[in-house]
Parts: sequence; C-alpha cells; structure tokens
Amino acid sequence: MNLSQEQINFLNHSIRDIPDFPKPGIIFKDITTLLSNKDAYALLMNHLYEKYSSYNLTHIAGIDARGFIFGAALAQMLGIGFVPIRKKGKLPYTTVSEKYSLEYGVDEVEIHIDAFTQVEHPKVLLIDDLIATGGTAYAAANLINKVGAECVEACFIMGLTFLDGQSKLKTLTNVYTVIGVD
Ligand code: AMP
Repeated sequence: MNLSQEQINFLNHSIRDIPDFPKPGIIFKDITTLLSNKDAYALLMNHLYEKYSSYNLTHIAGIDARGFIFGAALAQMLGIGFVPIRKKGKLPYTTVSEKYSLEYGVDEVEIHIDAFTQVEHPKVLLIDDLIATGGTAYAAANLINKVGAECVEACFIMGLTFLDGQSKLKTLTNVYTVIGVD
C-alpha cells in the first residue's frame, strides 16, 4: 500500500519544474507531464485508490482546477460522488464562500450549499495537486465543514515542505502528501 522510495522518485521525476512561472522566484510544479505519462498516472491513481478504499468516503471534493483532475478520477474509481470547490463566481447555484489571504491581497473559494445533501453523514476527502502556504486548502476544508459534511482528510500529490503549509490545516483535518518537496 505504501509507495517505495523508488516509486516516489519516479512520480517526482514525472513532474516538470518551470522556473519563474507565473512570476519570478516561483518554481512552478507542472503536473501535465505526470498526467501524460500513463505509467506515472496509473501508479499514482492506483496508490490513492488502495489507500482510500477503506475510508468509507461518500465524496471527494477537488480544488479548482488541478484538484478536479485527480479528484474526479479517484471518485470514479471509488464509486463515490465528486464535488468541485471553485474560485469565486464560477458555480451557478447558491454558494457558501470563504476568503483567504494570499501573499498580496485576498482570494475566495466557493462550494454549492447543497453539495453533500444526498447522504446523511457525508465523509469527504479533499484533494488538490499541491499544498504551498496551505491557505487555499484551509479555506476549502472549512467550506466542507460549513455545508454540513465531515472533511476526514486532505490529500495532495505534492507538499512544499519548506513552507510548512500543513500545520494550520492539521488543526482542521488529517493531511496526506504523496511527495514531499524540499
Ligand atoms: P497555497 O494556498 O499557498 O497552499 O497554494 C496552493 C494552490 O496554489 C494550489 O491550488 C496549487 O495548485 C497552487 N500552487 C501554489 N504554488 C505552486 C507551485 N509552486 N507550483 C504549482 N502550483 C502551485
């Protein structure tokens, strides 16, 4: 069930580093090269499927937009529902929203107010490609709780360990990162 160090290295090397994108000083982790590599994509998704098949989840919630790719695929594999958490102004029905701070300014994420109402005790896994400062994921986990569901864990393909974005999020939910990036 746990990935070997060799498998983690293989996944890590399938992700491309783009220096100075979208602005100088940022090394952007480009997961499109993982997705287009069938062996890397299958290894990752099978690992997540095995890990989460015993959690009795009812839904996966994915963060706009790369969390949709992993989250929707995993929900289908597990045979459960998928819920999008989107940037402000994108969801068409009544929403609940949560603001969070960026380096400069604020951003806002939203969820449909009735996202989890089909089941009595929704148990949700939150997923995104990467956790940096953790602000986006903290706001997203809060939204899941606000609309009456239990966010049982937050899962990231990569965690930037030098930023320690995980400690605040850990006050709300369990955190799992497949690849730690120093
Ligand atoms: P944060 O709220 O700081 O944890 O930022 C997380 C969000 O920003 C995620 O949706 C990531 O996809 C994106 N993100 C932040 N830093 C990077 C990076 N270096 N490479 C790729 N995506 C990033």
